[in-house]
Amino acid sequence: MSTIEKTEAVVLRSMPYRETSKIVTFYTRRFGRLSTIVKGARRRTSKFGSSLELMAHDLIVVYRKEGRELQTLSECDLLHSYRGLHEDLEKMSAGMAMIELISLLAREEEENAPLFSLLTDSLAAVDGATKNPSHVFYWYEVRIAKILGFQPAFGHCAVCGRSLPENEAADDPIRFDLGRGGPVCRSCTPEPGHTLLVDGALLRALDGVSRAPAPQDAAAMEFDQGMRERIREFMGTYLRTHVHGLRPLKSDKVFSRILDRTETTLPHSPALG
Ligand SMILES: [Zn+2]
Repeated sequence: MSTIEKTEAVVLRSMPYRETSKIVTFYTRRFGRLSTIVKGARRRTSKFGSSLELMAHDLIVVYRKEGRELQTLSECDLLHSYRGLHEDLEKMSAGMAMIELISLLAREEEENAPLFSLLTDSLAAVDGATKNPSHVFYWYEVRIAKILGFQPAFGHCAVCGRSLPENEAADDPIRFDLGRGGPVCRSCTPEPGHTLLVDGALLRALDGVSRAPAPQDAAAMEFDQGMRERIREFMGTYLRTHVHGLRPLKSDKVFSRILDRTETTLPHSPALG
């Protein structure tokens, strides 16, 4: 027996199916990841319009049968299209990285309302950002870790709680215990096998991002290109330590190329103009 269900959803993936249909995977507020068949979606007269574009935030109605791999989408109303994500490369790559990460983390049919709200809030923040949209992605990664129960803390020793990195010399490498989710001061011993060497500058940057109350506050922070890459690499490693089987994001490479280009080609040299 199938039931008719209504839920908010974000489009994660869309592919053609048969002559006129699509298979669209959503991250939904009530049912986690949900794959649906959308009949007639590729007809020119389709009623679905831009609501099936990647990253769109919709209100959907599905005929749902428990245990079935593909549910049937019956209605899809666009709540937010996040136009900015499709008009700016850095915004698009941040948004794409967000939906890629949630597709890898989210389970089918598993409700996680805080995770859903985090996704829509972060997409909206990237859409509206006037600068540094990619920083919203770092904030999103730290928040995901918090929601999934392995929130890192960057400002104090994970063993004794002493404030860091103020007590360490600025350039000295600091051991970061990935399992415990925090740096370890020189007097303490990290768990064997799960340690990365970081420095004070990286810890301070990560601490700033993790303390930012809203995604917009992360976008307001300034990091140079090298630091952006280090933050991204660190958070990728951190998430992969805690989420079994998580692979590196495909969007990682695109992301760093785009950021690199932003950094090196702007502003235009007046000599060339
Ligand atoms: Zn300590």
